[in-house]
Formats: sequence, structure tokens, C-alpha cells
Amino acid sequence: LYQQQPAPGGLEWNQGESVHLVVGIAARSDEHLEVLANLTHVLVDEATVRALSNTHNAADIVQALTKAPEEAPTRPTGERLTEFPNYIEVKILGAHGLHARPATAFVDIAKQFQCEIHVRHDRKIANGKSLVSLLQLGVEGGSTLRIMAHGQDADTALQALKAAVESGLGEEEGVQPARPGVQTPQAVWTPTEVGRMVPGISASPGLAIGPVQHYQHQKIVVEAHARDPKAEKSRLNQAVASALAELDQLYQEVKSRSGAGQAAIFRAHAEFLNDPELIDETVKGIDLGFSAGWSWQQVIQERVEAMQKLDDPIIAGRAIDLSDVGKRVLKQLANILDDAPFAPEKPVIMIAEDLSPSDTASLNPDLILGLCTAGGGPTSHTAIIARSLNIPAIVGTGPALLNLADGTIAILDGGSGNLYLEPSAADIDSARQAQASLEQQRNAEYLARYQPAFTTDGYRMEIVANISRASEAAQAVAAGAEGVGLLRTEFLFLERAEPPSEDEQYAAYAEMVRALAGLPLIIRTLDIGGDKKLPYLNLPPEDNSFLGVRGIRLCLVRPDLFLPQLRAIYRASMLGPVKIMYPMIATVEDLDAALDFSEQARQEVGAGPVEAGIMIEVPSAVLLADQLAKKVDFFSIGTNDLTQYTLAMDRLHPMLARRADGLHPAVLRMVDKTVQAAQEAGKWVGVCGGVAGDPKGAILLMGLGVTELSLSIPSVAAIKARLRNISVSEARSLAKQALACRNAAEVRMLAYPGGGA
Ligand code: PEP
Ligand code: MG
Repeated sequence: LYQQQPAPGGLEWNQGESVHLVVGIAARSDEHLEVLANLTHVLVDEATVRALSNTHNAADIVQALTKAPEEAPTRPTGERLTEFPNYIEVKILGAHGLHARPATAFVDIAKQFQCEIHVRHDRKIANGKSLVSLLQLGVEGGSTLRIMAHGQDADTALQALKAAVESGLGEEEGVQPARPGVQTPQAVWTPTEVGRMVPGISASPGLAIGPVQHYQHQKIVVEAHARDPKAEKSRLNQAVASALAELDQLYQEVKSRSGAGQAAIFRAHAEFLNDPELIDETVKGIDLGFSAGWSWQQVIQERVEAMQKLDDPIIAGRAIDLSDVGKRVLKQLANILDDAPFAPEKPVIMIAEDLSPSDTASLNPDLILGLCTAGGGPTSHTAIIARSLNIPAIVGTGPALLNLADGTIAILDGGSGNLYLEPSAADIDSARQAQASLEQQRNAEYLARYQPAFTTDGYRMEIVANISRASEAAQAVAAGAEGVGLLRTEFLFLERAEPPSEDEQYAAYAEMVRALAGLPLIIRTLDIGGDKKLPYLNLPPEDNSFLGVRGIRLCLVRPDLFLPQLRAIYRASMLGPVKIMYPMIATVEDLDAALDFSEQARQEVGAGPVEAGIMIEVPSAVLLADQLAKKVDFFSIGTNDLTQYTLAMDRLHPMLARRADGLHPAVLRMVDKTVQAAQEAGKWVGVCGGVAGDPKGAILLMGLGVTELSLSIPSVAAIKARLRNISVSEARSLAKQALACRNAAEVRMLAYPGGGA
């Protein structure tokens, strides 16, 4: 406990609130509950609060907060809390017990009911609608609580609270940050010394050791002059309104993820935008013939510079905020977004708020040791590209990451999803050793990369690669892939001002066919929408872009995009074994329409028939798989989308992405159902989503009857090696067990023979 300075007058904390004493608790989870419980006793005792607010002696505070629980009263007020006959008993999950966050969730639910709710833990009884009272119970993880209710809606309240407690009260299931000396399932290395750590979500395995550096987002360029001041003023108003809407959304997201304190900064940013002078000055510039963007940029820049000149660290901090919020508005007004390449002088661990697919795609892998983003999830495109570039990566750390100073030395463990800051020399040493042994293992796998993936009982699994650009076809072959199972063609459409012409596309596909020299190439038609956007298509914004006009739905209403692509694919099919695959098929009609367009394109170029397949990535496609199977030659399951749509968890959502695990039995049952339907129709099933590149996933998919796995290029050799160590019969029995599990954590805990996974 650390008391920095007594402040008897108090300091402004959040707007309108003042603080007299700030207590930070740095304690083990079992100790911190006790401190928290004592704190709640202090809070209801006004005399103690006054005394502690004014004390000059830190020991007074320590003593008040660490005295033995017996000395503390068991209730915040003189009221006697009774037991009620109507009760349920529940076990508190999570290692950290009923600490502030889950207790708040509990109280929020309890307050929705009219009845009285009391909670008993050992001999203490608390009011379930009072956070202070509940925290006084000091409930540790694993303990049993009796929740009692009395009143009209008592039964419903008890059921709601039982369900909430059993689902973890908003705490992430199974995601404990790695603790020193504790090996997490995917961790290849663990630190021996306690230090600062930013926990995140594993996105791409491997260790990176080096300085961190923030990614500089786009350089924003605006034209100086504009002809129509009226139009510029309205653009300005719209830009400010959109920025305010974005800030509000950010506030809500961060608040629900990290609390109101962390989120407050976005309220402050919005406050800047409510300053009428800022708008008035910009309007003056517009009236002089300047564009809204240019005028806004000048006003912001002048203010920022003026604030910086004051040489006051607090005001300088506000200057950074003003510049940040200025940029947010400017982005809405900019005509050209000029990508400034991220070019550090030496290799770094890159940190960023989030990366769009095109940001990630333009990275130079030689300069990026590792990648860590505050947002995103394991199936986001940032993660997919990091894996394809073989860069260790962590996503979804939350905003704390963004406060790190450039140059801070860190160890990024892409396997466990933790970023360790300022590690000791001993930890750096041991991480380097782990890196070396990982490399040794990878070398052995690499040497065997051209050997097929024969299981120990002689079954051959086909291993192909996911690629995004022409040059990757040759890389895929060199990495041991037996063809391309997914060409994400949308990457040919990114980072440009208009769609590639039919000829350009043909040239790219032809280059790939040639590089594959007789190996199959599955070309997926354009899958734009969701998190993949093309500014030049000027598509209207959608509230639910993942549920909007995405993938095949867009192509069907934009024959100007679809037909040239189909013609290019059919022309390329005359050079080698090309197959067509349609994304986001949700209905039989989608498929019929796609096949009609394809037939038209085929006739236009005079090509022969081409094998056609669909992505199975929407639950309706799984349920209709028997009907769809009759119309196509193959299925390829997109577990990234299938997971998000099955579990109704946005693959990019900062709070949910962690739980959107493709090994969830619900997703595996979808795979099982798809395979059954395809087998009955005599068609084969592949998987091209991220689960195929997860060693456990690959084994389970093989066990479920999938015959082709399409992986990111760097995973090819490792997955082949892993499958060579297991038999199909073992994989089948594991798959059967997995289908019966209750959640992804249980699936991951199964005993996978053959080591490694
Ligand atoms: C998928 O959804 O699993 C898939 C392979 O497609 P994408 O990740 O490109 O949406
Ligand atoms: Mg998909």
C-alpha cells in the first residue's frame, strides 16, 4: 500500500468527483480479497474515513486495511440481516474470487428484482444488492455461497443469479494470465521473475524479444482549397458528429471492458469537440476558401502547439489528447489517406491499437519481431496475417498497451498471449534458449516438409495452404504445401483506388497456376464486407457488417465485380487444376445464383467446366449441407466465420473474441454434421479456417472425417509433422470425446497422444 501525498482538500478525479485518498492494492489474489473486505468496513465508518483522509502516516492506512478479519464488523450498518428459507447454493468460479468486478455484476443483476436478496458465506451474511456489503464477505474462488431471496419474484431472482454465477459473472472463462513458474497449455516459455505483464490473446505462436514501438497509422493528407463553403461546413458538421459517435462507442466499449476510469479519456475527447470556438475558427477558414479538413487541421495544430509551448506537463498531456481527437475528425474529412510505411530502424515488437487488413498486409516482416494489438481477436485478419507471416502475435490486450513507451524492452510470447515488460537478464536469457529450441524443432519439421502427412496407421491427410497474393503460391510449395486450399482474392482488391481489371486478375491467377505446377488451386471469389472493406466501392455503412451484404451477397448484386473475376478464373482454369469456391453461402438460392453467373462467365470465355465448392461458414449452410452438397464438388469449412456465427461472438470483439474458440464443441458438431452430409453425397470436405492450423484442431478435424486442411504457410511443416505422430483411429476417438465436451477448454484438455499438441 502506498500513500503518495496527503491531500486534505482532495483532488479532482473524474469530472465532478474529488478524491482524498487513493488506495492501490498490489497483492496476491488471496490477500487482496481481505484488503478489499477491510476497505469496505472502512468506507462505512465516516470517522475512520475522515481520519485516514487526513493522516500523514501511511502506517495508519496499512493498519486499517490489513487488520485481521475478526476485528472487523461483519455488517456495514447496524441492520441485522436475516436468513430466508428460499435459497440456492452456488460455487464461485475463477481463481480471484468475488472481487470488485464480478461482485458488481452480481449486484447489477440482484437490483433488477423486487425481492430482498441476502448472501451467506460461512457465518457472514451480506445484502446482495450492495456492493460494499457483498465485498465484505471476502469470498475466495472455489467457495460456496448461499443466495437467499424473499419476496414476490424470489424464484426468478435466484435462478438468474445462479445462472450468472455459474457462467462466471462476466469473468473470462479459462483465461488466466500466465504466472511466473506456471506453464500455460500453449506457452513454450515462462518467466521466472515477477514483472510487469500485459496479458492478451494468443494470435500467432513464437517468442519475440526486443524493444516495443508504436505503429504510426496513416498519414492524413487533405486538399487545401474547396470551392463550395456550404458543402464544406456540412462536411465539417458530419465529421464532428461521426467522431462524437465513435468516441461514444469507444467509451462504452472500454467502460464495459476496463471500467469507467479507463474509459473517461474518451469522454474528455468528446468534450474537446463540444467547444464551439473550435468549430467557429474552422468555419472562418472555410469562409476564406479553404477546405473543411485543411481549416480544421490548422486550428487544431495551432492550439496543440500553443499548449505544448506552456511547458506544463499536465497541459502538454492534454495537447496529445487534442491532437488525437483532431485526427479522429480529420480522418473523416481527408480525401487521401497516404499510407506512411512503418519503418523502424531496427527490428521491433510492434504495438498498435488495432490494424486493418491493409495495415497488416503492408508490414515488412524483417522489421517486425512480434505484433501486439490492443483490439482484435484470434480470428481477426490481423491474427491471420501475422500467422501467415510467421510473426509471433498477441491481440486483444486492451488499452493499457497503448501507454507503453517506445523502446521498452519486452518478451512477447505468442503462444501464451502474454507480453512481458522489462524482463530480467535471466529471463531474457532463458527466453532466448526457448527460442533456440523452438527453432531446432522447426528446423527438423522443415526438413521433412515435402513428405506427405501419413498418420502412424497409414492414412494420408492432404495439407494445402491459404494464400492471399500471387507470390505466395511459390512460397506455399516451398513450405511443403500440396496445393492451395484457399486463395483469398480480396487482397488483390485492397490497397488500390479501383478494382483490378479482368486481365490483371487473370495475370495474377495464371502466375499462381504456373507456380503450383500441377498442384490444385482453389480460388475463392471476392469476400468483401465484415472487417474487409474497399473504400472505392463506396458501400453504405452497415450496423452489423458481419451480417450485412458480405461475400457472395455483394458479388450477386455487383455483377460488375463478379463477372470479370469469374471470367479471369475460368481463363486461368485452362492453364491448370483450378477450382472455384464461393464464400458466405447461406442459402441454396445464393449458390444457384453464383453457379448461374459462373456458367455465364464460363461460356463467355469458352472454358470447360471447373470444379466448384462452397465455404461452409454460416450455420444455415451446415443445416442445408445435404441439399448444397448435391450441387457442388466439395465443401471447405471456414471455421473463423463459422465460429463467430455459431457462438454469436464477433470475431473482432474485444471482450468476446477470446471465447470465440473454434474448438468449441458447438463448432465441432457443426463440422461433424457437415462431414456427414457431404459423405452421404460422396463429396469431400476441407477446412480452411484457423482451426486447421491449430495442432489439436488438425487432429480433431481429421478424426471428424475432414480430408484436406488448408493452413497458413508457416504452419504447413508443423501440422504435417504433428499428424505423422498420431493414428486416425486415435484421432477419431478424440473427436468423439470432443463432441461430448461442454466447452472449448474441456476439448483442449483432452489427452492428445503423440506429444506436442
Ligand atoms: C473463415 O471464415 O474461416 C475463412 C477461412 O475465411 P476468412 O477468414 O477469410 O473470412
Ligand atoms: Mg470467412
